Amino acid sequence: MAISGALEAVSLAAQLKIVPTQKHRGVIFTLHHVCAERPDRFQPNAHLSITPQFLDRVLATVRRNGWKPVRLEQLPHLLSRGDNGDRYAVFTLDDGYRNNRSEALPVFRKHEVPFTVFVTSGFMRRSRSIWWMTLEEILRSSRSLTFGGAQMKTQSALEKYAAFDRVCHYLEGTEENQCVDDLDAHAHALGFDPMSIVEREVLSSQDVAAFSRDPLVSIGAHTVNHLNLAKLEPELAAREMSTSADEIGALTGQRPTLFAYPYGRRGAACQREFEIAAQCGFDIAVTTRPGMIGTSDGVNMLSLPRISLNGYFQKSRYIEALLTGLPFRFAGVLGQNVGNG
Ligand SMILES: [Zn+2]
Repeated sequence: MAISGALEAVSLAAQLKIVPTQKHRGVIFTLHHVCAERPDRFQPNAHLSITPQFLDRVLATVRRNGWKPVRLEQLPHLLSRGDNGDRYAVFTLDDGYRNNRSEALPVFRKHEVPFTVFVTSGFMRRSRSIWWMTLEEILRSSRSLTFGGAQMKTQSALEKYAAFDRVCHYLEGTEENQCVDDLDAHAHALGFDPMSIVEREVLSSQDVAAFSRDPLVSIGAHTVNHLNLAKLEPELAAREMSTSADEIGALTGQRPTLFAYPYGRRGAACQREFEIAAQCGFDIAVTTRPGMIGTSDGVNMLSLPRISLNGYFQKSRYIEALLTGLPFRFAGVLGQNVGNG
């Protein structure tokens, strides 16, 4: 058991490409969905979900290891005070899903832990579909798919997973808006409205306004259309960022100063995007680059790393290992952090 646990911990650290040491003063966790597990065989977005029970264990583990849960907006001040031995944990949830309120909020309340929800305003206003969920639904109900010039068999679960990966890769290398439109058209041809998924899964404007009044909740911006900003002209990237903050501000009475880059990986958020974020009035912006936060020197508040609370690793001993700073010799050996959101 001990060996297997250690190996799993090593594998997590490797997956996250982090080597925790005493120098780390903070960690920002990324979550998406918080909901019960589903029995389906085909779940290409499962890595974006954790259960409320797992969140409960994580919050207990964080406190047990002496990490102080704080608000994201407090970080600059706390880190600027110099190292007094305190270590901070921040929780963030991307995209603005309904279950953040129905499932996650009660768990955060139980542990009195504040958190930030990054809202995609186009999802919230029902003007934009969520392509990775549309694609999942298309593949679930189809036996073949022609997309991006490729014909794919999608009968078995294995074939569906392969097709999902292929479309993701295609989408990364091409014009994203056109791809989203094409997927929406496929959905309609199969007899379902992709916006019904958004309605089912995402907080409405009224929900966000009410959610923002909860004392534990901070609302951040996550663009209007959840596009890869690095692929856009600078003016359009700035509009995506700025307009989402304006729309949320008009709704809640407080324009967000917190921002999360869609996808957030190196190819979707780099120096140019960090500068645009500053120009758009954001004080703090988070990526999905895996890592922990060191001392205030050298910490760019507009390119903060995060640790994904990944649906594939729903075991509290991973989190324990992460937070207690075991020496992970094999860190960096394995692959990358995953995630669409
Ligand atoms: Zn996202």
